[in-house]
Amino acid sequence: MEGRATTEYNAGIMKTRMKSPKQSAKAKPKAAYTSPERLQKIFSALDQLFPQAQCALQHENAFQLLVATILSAQCTDERVNKVTPGLFQKFSTPQDFAALAQPVLEAEIRSTGFFRNKAKNLIGMAKKLVTDFGGQVPRTMEEMLTLPGVARKTANVVLGTAYGIPTGVVVDTHVFRIAHRLKLSNQKTPEKVEQDLLKLVPPERWISFGHQMIWFGRKVCQARKPLCADCPLESICDARDKTV
Ligand code: SF4
Repeated sequence: MEGRATTEYNAGIMKTRMKSPKQSAKAKPKAAYTSPERLQKIFSALDQLFPQAQCALQHENAFQLLVATILSAQCTDERVNKVTPGLFQKFSTPQDFAALAQPVLEAEIRSTGFFRNKAKNLIGMAKKLVTDFGGQVPRTMEEMLTLPGVARKTANVVLGTAYGIPTGVVVDTHVFRIAHRLKLSNQKTPEKVEQDLLKLVPPERWISFGHQMIWFGRKVCQARKPLCADCPLESICDARDKTV
């Protein structure tokens, strides 16, 4: 996935760059940042850069993705992907996790950080799946939010990626940062940023937009040193921390 995304990114850069770095946009009235034309430029650039963006967390079913997404809190997907293959070899079903003693699971997931809380949530989540949902990951946001350790971000990842159900836009640290840099939202919480994005992004793009923004944040609009000189959105971006 990483390699494919890089290739897509490199190919996309050549096609989608619009202006030289010296032609940066100046600050605009607020409504201009969310005009249909500007949004379309953002969607087009993301489509060209990451036409087949997918979730980077390895998984074979909705339950595995739910476990991996809970483990990914405050942790990189790469680290989670190192832990989950061995974990799922030993314990693969909600019933397996529900029967685990917490210290056993803690030892398995220690390297992902916050392991005590994650183990507690994973076991609680698995128990609830077994008792309330017949051992299946539910298919609605309302039901997902009843599971321990599951908030909207995790629910959107699982429902969108595993089931193809567009319940919202995933707002992780990358999406939150880029939404602010592109002035699509100035809200202070991921939940409120998501509500802004839901008004701007058409529902048929909710799932892909989240994946694309996450890859864009990893490969181009990085937290510390965004690669603005190579960014196809440079001409329409006036983020304060631009590097050109
Ligand atoms: S901050 Fe830089 S990399 Fe991010 S969107 Fe703006 S120009 Fe692109």
